[in-house]
Amino acid sequence: MSTRVGLGFDVHRLVDGRPCVLGGIVIPHPTGPLGHSDGDAVLHAIGDALLGAAGLDDLGTLYSDKDPKWKGANSAELLADVLRRVRAIGWKPVNVDVVIATEGPRIAPHRAAMRAKLAELLGLAVDAVNVKGKSLEGLGALAGGAGVAVQAVCLLER
Ligand code: MG
Repeated sequence: MSTRVGLGFDVHRLVDGRPCVLGGIVIPHPTGPLGHSDGDAVLHAIGDALLGAAGLDDLGTLYSDKDPKWKGANSAELLADVLRRVRAIGWKPVNVDVVIATEGPRIAPHRAAMRAKLAELLGLAVDAVNVKGKSLEGLGALAGGAGVAVQAVCLLER
């Protein structure tokens, strides 16, 4: 049995008039992530972690924001395609851990729903998927709800 660790990171601006799609769920909030796809920075960070661990190309290379195919795309479909690529070369996710740094939507009230959704999308038990929300302490360009930054780490085995 061999194992690999992968790290993913993503940032999106939060703007008016966009659904607040994060971690595969829609959070009631007046702003949402701007993006070519639905802007789900959580799924994008997880996707890059999985691809990184598997030694594959990164998300931006495989699913270019210049490609009209992915315009307005549901990132859950994108993650399903990532998992297909990872599994095709024999790797299987063991666990995923995520940190969401934002002063936009509060994450804590949605943690349980997000973990359940991520577990479903990744084919993992809920205790193998974790999510933490972090405030930015009013610092930096993302302070005040201007954006969301996400870090994800995953373990693969084969
Ligand atoms: Mg992204």
